[in-house]
Amino acid sequence: MNAAFFASWIEEIIRTVHVERDRLTRLDAAVGDADHGANLDRGFAAVAPVLAAKQPDTTGALLKQVGDTLIRNVGGASGPLYGMAFREMGKVLGDTPDVSVAELCTALRAGLAGIQKLGAAVEGDKTLVDALIPAIRALEQAVRDGVKQQEAIAAAAAAALAGAEATIPMLARKGRASYLGPRSVGHEDPGAASTALIFAALNTVAT
Ligand code: ADP
Ligand code: MG
Ligand code: MG
Repeated sequence: MNAAFFASWIEEIIRTVHVERDRLTRLDAAVGDADHGANLDRGFAAVAPVLAAKQPDTTGALLKQVGDTLIRNVGGASGPLYGMAFREMGKVLGDTPDVSVAELCTALRAGLAGIQKLGAAVEGDKTLVDALIPAIRALEQAVRDGVKQQEAIAAAAAAALAGAEATIPMLARKGRASYLGPRSVGHEDPGAASTALIFAALNTVAT
């Protein structure tokens, strides 16, 4: 996976976040303040002109640009969290010309660590971490099983989606949804849903 592959991934995220904007906002209306779709759409839409002005030639520089742009343009909790994740991934991948699935796992682990350092969410708190961790685990398992890249990424996307759906019965312990206490139960976490979209976009590009 080269810098052009990662650029295509970001373009696909920009596109799908825009298409799914209203669904993400509806999910956030149930447990938060009804802005998750709008927040992410604003943030990723701001990435497009930045990359158009000067397409970075390494994956690291590209992901750093994405992270910085999200941090600058998203007001909600998700902006700094996703921004940090992309920045940390960029630091790990740097100028690696052809990123392997194993290297992608390492980068995603660093992204997760950044998210947890910032937001202190653990698995089961009903956040985007509940989609991200299963996706990383699926990718790591695929590396151990020695499956093809495309198959590994498809498994990660499926795990992220299942992880997002598994947040429905959870009680929120982090972010705005936690203010609802038991009333947060029975709703999918918006951030977990957007993480599933980000992995679906990766799968689209890998296929
Ligand atoms: P805000 O809650 O500020 O309006 P968004 O609506 O854009 O921000 O994002 C909400 C999402 O952010 C939640 O659905 C959750 O997945 C994620 N989130 C919130 N707080 C945390 C946290 N401390 N750690 C991880 N993810 C979090
Ligand atoms: Mg919100
Ligand atoms: Mg908000």
